[in-house]
Amino acid sequence: MKQVVLRHALAARPVAGDFDVVGAAVPDCPDGGVVARVLHISLDPYVGSRLRGRHMGEPPPAPGIDPIPGAVVAEVVVSRLPGIAEGDVVQSMEGGWAEFVALPGEHVRRIDPAVAPLSAHAGVLGMPGLTAWAGITQLAAVGPGDIVLVDAAAGAVGGTVGQIARLKGAARVVGIAGGPDKCALVTGSYGFDACIDYKAEGWHDALTAALPEPPTVHFENVSTAMASMALARLRPYGRMVLCGLVDQYHADTPPPGLNAGLIVGKRAQVCGLVVYDFYDRWDIFLADVAPWVASGALGIAEDVAHGLDAAPALFERLMEGRNIGKALVSLV
Ligand code: NDP
Repeated sequence: MKQVVLRHALAARPVAGDFDVVGAAVPDCPDGGVVARVLHISLDPYVGSRLRGRHMGEPPPAPGIDPIPGAVVAEVVVSRLPGIAEGDVVQSMEGGWAEFVALPGEHVRRIDPAVAPLSAHAGVLGMPGLTAWAGITQLAAVGPGDIVLVDAAAGAVGGTVGQIARLKGAARVVGIAGGPDKCALVTGSYGFDACIDYKAEGWHDALTAALPEPPTVHFENVSTAMASMALARLRPYGRMVLCGLVDQYHADTPPPGLNAGLIVGKRAQVCGLVVYDFYDRWDIFLADVAPWVASGALGIAEDVAHGLDAAPALFERLMEGRNIGKALVSLV
């Protein structure tokens, strides 16, 4: 059979010349797994990072030996997995760029071929669709009235994000994509209300016009620069899903500022906090915390200036970060 391997270890964004198509033996069937004939291979941005050992701690494939990793839709030809028969069609995230793959049982999901064309299980019903669905329904909890903005909107994730948002009742769905053809797909086939071509002159103004009301949800697929732009537009109390930073995957260093890639990798939830919103809970706060202060369980450190005359100097120290503990001026 044929499979695709790396020609050499990668030190930069992969290009076609980094790959070789080579002959290999059809793999043996693992106990509790299957061997399947590959029907569709999903090509995903993360694979570019994975080939360089930059994805979720997973090792890169050995050049010349291991097939390029990737999700597949495949037809089972040998099964040692209870419940899966020869001829069944399965989906697996742990396939590869090969004509046949050996799949351990835990990485096999049987597909009902009647549900949709089989290739859909590499896209809208596969990992990219799951990603979009998870971000829109499980994290951002998009519902009626939401205004949703998403970039890389012509792609597998972004296009599904907008469509699921609409199906969940979003009032308006706006995409950002590169070029008129992609934008035509986004508004035509995907049915977004608008799509802004960020490669066109004046696109910031066009985005403003497409968003008469600020977005309540932003779904980021591209970069921290895009996320910052969207964040500036987001309605207060809006939600942002940081899904991908595809424009940064092959950079030598992360862009300055908050390392958004770490937020994605850690699945961290980042919340904006403005204390005003909690003024009406002051009594609850005091009931909780005052006893700790009284008992000494909660320590106090104060950097005290005595008398108004001493206030400017302490303030100067505060501005320079040289205060130690709570800076306060005591007049008693
Ligand atoms: P796409 O088909 O959307 O391809 C990526 C798109 O990103 C490109 O078509 C391009 O669209 C845009 N892009 C902008 N800058 C770059 C760049 N420097 N290199 C390549 N592409 C660029 O991919 P997917 O829909 O599969 O994935 C979208 C995002 O979702 C990616 O960031 C991906 O890593 C992420 N993802 C995250 C997952 C997670 O678990 N967090 C799971 C799955 C995907 P345009 O021309 O419109 O700018």
